[in-house]
Amino acid sequence: MQLCAIPTCRIRNRHLPDCDGECGGCLPRVAEEGLCCDVCVGRAAAALTAIITLTGDARAIAYGEVRRSTGGGSNKPGSRSPGNDDAMDALDAVQSTLTTIARDIAETRGINLHGRSNT
Ligand SMILES: [Zn+2]
Ligand SMILES: [Zn+2]
Repeated sequence: MQLCAIPTCRIRNRHLPDCDGECGGCLPRVAEEGLCCDVCVGRAAAALTAIITLTGDARAIAYGEVRRSTGGGSNKPGSRSPGNDDAMDALDAVQSTLTTIARDIAETRGINLHGRSNT
């Protein structure tokens, strides 16, 4: 068993031995299994789920399939706005960032992204 590896993982009002006690809490939770505690794993899973849920909407906006309602502007049926270049660029940036992070994690942890590795 070890302490959670997530840098922001802290138990409120619990402190590491070398802390002066002035902070709001600096002792990480305990990782029961693997490197992270259940709370951080749950948080990461929820964040990934949110990304998956929001991706469809983001793409629809980028490709001009839906209009972002900004309050003003006409909303005539049949008038599809063209693809949104800024949104496309943002999507590309997000996607490449996520891919880079995923590759980095996979490399660090020795996971083969093209197949399961249980070692
Ligand atoms: Zn502290
Ligand atoms: Zn944690």
